[in-house]
Amino acid sequence: MPGALYIVSTPIGNLKDITLRAVETLKQVDLIAAEDTRHTKILTGHYGVNTPLTSYFQYNKVKKSDFLIKALKDGKNIALVSDAGTPGISDPGFVVIRKAIREGIKVIPIPGPSAFLTALSASGLPTNKFVFEGFLSNKSSHRRKRLKELSRDQRSIIIYESPHRIISTLGDIRDIMGDICIVCARELTKKFEEIRREKVSACIGHFSNAKVMGEFIIIMNLTDRGT
Ligand code: SAM
Repeated sequence: MPGALYIVSTPIGNLKDITLRAVETLKQVDLIAAEDTRHTKILTGHYGVNTPLTSYFQYNKVKKSDFLIKALKDGKNIALVSDAGTPGISDPGFVVIRKAIREGIKVIPIPGPSAFLTALSASGLPTNKFVFEGFLSNKSSHRRKRLKELSRDQRSIIIYESPHRIISTLGDIRDIMGDICIVCARELTKKFEEIRREKVSACIGHFSNAKVMGEFIIIMNLTDRGT
């Protein structure tokens, strides 16, 4: 009998944001495939999980997914975790998940935190329709082209961004979409959590004045007039 691949959501910052089922699954599987084993060890150590860890990340995802599929076919149960949130969402998880499905292996989601849903839920922007863009290109010209296309979108738009690029991405948003109101969420569930709701220029001013740290989510809705 082949094993099952469990897609286990883990906290996006606060270690307490994990489900009972996630901890139970991490304890019961034969192997945990983690984006960064050192990072995941903090979580497994905290919850007394002794399951062996193996790394599965951006630069070994193709080769390592073959190894994981073979282990699954040999009957091992494997949990896939990412550094934060739900595996497969803007991280390498997608590759092994798709291979497993193609190989007829059972894929079992263990739901929990997801960074974009956490930000969207607190954004105050319409949530009935939204588009998840993940990371825009790291090239400004490509980013601007995509932002131009998005400026016709009536849904709430969710973008992931790293601290290195936040200022230039905000600059591109201001240039392409104007000085619109945005929601910029940083370090959600962590000590320095910040959810800013303001014009792009104010947000740029705020983050330009300090060493920019942390992880960011930008949300905007070009048709929202507030209530
Ligand atoms: N799989 C994850 C999920 O479920 O959302 C996303 C992984 S993606 C590689 C990492 C990006 O998620 C970060 O660059 C940031 O945009 C966002 N992110 C993750 N944790 C966050 C947090 N605590 N606060 C704000 N954004 C976060």
